[in-house]
Amino acid sequence: VQSDYLKLQNEKESNARSYPRHFPLVISKAKGITVTDTEGRNYYDCLAGAGTLALGHNHETVTDAIRGVLDQQIPLHTLDLATPLKLAFMQELLSILPNELKDTAKIQFCGPTGADAVEAAIKLVKNATGGKSILAFQGSYHGSTQATMAMSGNLSKKQHLQSLLPDVHFLPFPYEYRCPFGMGEGMTAKLSAQYIENLLDDCESGIALPCGIILETVQGEGGVIPADLEWLRQLRRITSERGIPLIIDEVQTGIGRTGRMFSFEHAGIVPDVIICSKAVGGSLPMAVVIYKEELDQWQPGAHTGTFRGNQLGMAAGLATLRHMQEQNILQNVQLRSGQFMHRLEQLKGQYAEVGDVRGRGLMIGVEIVDPAGPKDRLGHYLQNGALAASIQHECFNNGLIVEVGGRHSAVIRFLPPLNITEQETAAVLGIFEKSVQAAIA
Ligand code: PMP
Repeated sequence: VQSDYLKLQNEKESNARSYPRHFPLVISKAKGITVTDTEGRNYYDCLAGAGTLALGHNHETVTDAIRGVLDQQIPLHTLDLATPLKLAFMQELLSILPNELKDTAKIQFCGPTGADAVEAAIKLVKNATGGKSILAFQGSYHGSTQATMAMSGNLSKKQHLQSLLPDVHFLPFPYEYRCPFGMGEGMTAKLSAQYIENLLDDCESGIALPCGIILETVQGEGGVIPADLEWLRQLRRITSERGIPLIIDEVQTGIGRTGRMFSFEHAGIVPDVIICSKAVGGSLPMAVVIYKEELDQWQPGAHTGTFRGNQLGMAAGLATLRHMQEQNILQNVQLRSGQFMHRLEQLKGQYAEVGDVRGRGLMIGVEIVDPAGPKDRLGHYLQNGALAASIQHECFNNGLIVEVGGRHSAVIRFLPPLNITEQETAAVLGIFEKSVQAAIA
């Protein structure tokens, strides 16, 4: 039966889809971290809706909330019109913000994808500052629409589509392991901050007045690259001193993924604009931009869209946020992160193919390298995307779903539900090690 479904999908669905290529399964049921295919096989899902399923599949808190909307005949869609549920969701979202933003921040519902929220954020800051150019980072990912692709730093995927949008300038991200300056040894972040400051002060550079600077504090699709926290503080200082809005794309990192509600909290900074999607809707489509009130200078209708008033998403998002706080899910993220990192670091010591292990919270990446090949200028073996794909394939055969990303798709990415247990983590790590062994044998 499963092969019939897959045949139909291959024949009828566009080639632009990606996940089915890695995971030839047809899912019929899912609960917690487990998905079950039509043949009854179980898999640990460490892709978790690309980080969307904060509480895993079909958590009772979320399903009860969705059922409640239906039972109470709450309208499913209201565009921008108010409902008690919408107001409760907004209040909850504001309540988890840093103190500086709690009472004053504005929320723009978008929708419902992350990319649409990124588009809205850029429009917002263009409007408020009059600046035209946007500063973004090498290796970043902000979406698949034309403008968000223009701001994403993975050039190979968009080369044939150029030109998408003018006026995007890319800055070096502090990717310590593959230092863009060829330096390493703790220099990457320092040099990147100095580079950005010099560039902004060079009035001949042509980008002296950007409308904003957009970044992920941990690049996700770019290969799970956490930004140095002091670098983030420097970036905040540099942008504040020059009046440039700092936009943090929390689409993947936000809502607890890194062990704090928002990933910028690790650095103790407060951005001007926060972009949220994925987990914010409790696994249902939802995207919001949260921003400082002084940026709120756009006119009614400046960013419209039909699917902004999705009450199911608000109910699921509200239930998820409340549950996370009641159950101290952030603490679990920190504990399980430690468990992952500890074992993965051991594997790095055991297998030369495991080049780098990094992450923040439950956003974890393992960069796979080729120890039989040449080294880069920093003395690290080059990325081995083919081996990463084999490891991913072995994982899948052993009942574990993990995604790959980064340069040459050589980084295995773990994005498990945030309530993953100690035992589940141990099981995932066991399968991963077995799969690494099988792939390199
Ligand atoms: N920003 C980041 C950081 C993301 O990881 C993603 C999706 N992976 C997006 C934006 C785009 O979100 P969506 O796919 O919902 O458009």
